[in-house]
Amino acid sequence: MKPPKFDYHVPSTIDEAIALLTRYGGEAKLLAGGQSLVPLLNFRLSRPAALVDLNRVPGLAYIREVDGHVRLGAMTRQRTIEFSPVVRRRLPLLAEATAFVGHLPIRTRGTIGGSLAHADPAAEYPATLTALDGEVIVRGPSGERTVQAGDFFRSYLATVLTADEILVEVRFPAMPGGAGFAFEEFSRRHGDFAIVGIAAMVTGQGASCTSARLATAGTGPFPARLRGAEEILERDGLTEAAIEAAADRAATLVDPPSDIHASAAYRRNLTRVLTGRALRRAIARMGGA
Ligand SMILES: Cc1cc2nc3c(=O)[nH]c(=O)nc-3n(C[C@H](O)[C@H](O)[C@H](O)COP(=O)(O)OP(=O)(O)OC[C@H]3O[C@@H](n4cnc5c(N)ncnc54)[C@H](O)[C@@H]3O)c2cc1C
Repeated sequence: MKPPKFDYHVPSTIDEAIALLTRYGGEAKLLAGGQSLVPLLNFRLSRPAALVDLNRVPGLAYIREVDGHVRLGAMTRQRTIEFSPVVRRRLPLLAEATAFVGHLPIRTRGTIGGSLAHADPAAEYPATLTALDGEVIVRGPSGERTVQAGDFFRSYLATVLTADEILVEVRFPAMPGGAGFAFEEFSRRHGDFAIVGIAAMVTGQGASCTSARLATAGTGPFPARLRGAEEILERDGLTEAAIEAAADRAATLVDPPSDIHASAAYRRNLTRVLTGRALRRAIARMGGA
């Protein structure tokens, strides 16, 4: 199918893009990499009056290390993130998660801002942002605001972004040196969206755990932070018994849907299995360069 008719605008500044969104009063859509929006248009699941193309707005694609944080411009392509030396050194969990996003051509066009704004609950970036306590910078007609990962995702394909706002930057605290990390996911075919994915980061020394971070993809309308499971590791340490207890607890903390891809019970079991795998792999990597 072909998309319905729409006006097409190519602003050259963020302010111009915001003015266009405001002018269309909620009937315009931003176009980033187009890897989610264009299929929605072609299937006529989205019928915006206008597209506001961000691809010619300069200064929205960058990766910078600032004050212990890594800042990524919203239009940074997923492929750039996958191979960025800064991301590999300071956010290796994000680099690992990126390799699970679709296929090479999709990552070549798709952007981090587009993925987070689209908020597919099975996507890797929302889970990674949630696990790493990241935040997004949003600009609209009344200025700029910062939204923490835990406050950003609202429901299936829904965030707190209003129709006249643009996600301009994504910020992650750099992962502590020596942190162990792993992104584990199960999908039917390579490149498919995750049926369940788990993002994990652990810090500590030997068997003692200073902090654990666990977040899910595919287990509900938006990423779930598995705080109850994290607490088991922070209290009992990084022993095999604690890993098993944390994985069991993780499965009770999610309330996944049943759909054509998997039943709720299967997803709950995957949450348990993948949490255990992610933790074991993360712990094995702790202390690494
Ligand atoms: C075959 C296929 C397989 C895929 N597999 C995966 C996968 O396994 N994992 C995964 O995570 N993704 C997957 N994707 C989706 C891909 O990662 C997309 O790139 C991503 O979801 C959207 O990013 P985009 O830059 O293409 O955004 P677009 O498609 O251009 O936009 C998506 C939505 O976000 C809005 N938007 C875009 N940028 C902004 C912004 N800066 N501020 C506010 N709103 C904005 C748009 O208006 C639109 O509503 C797949 C896509 C395809 C086609």
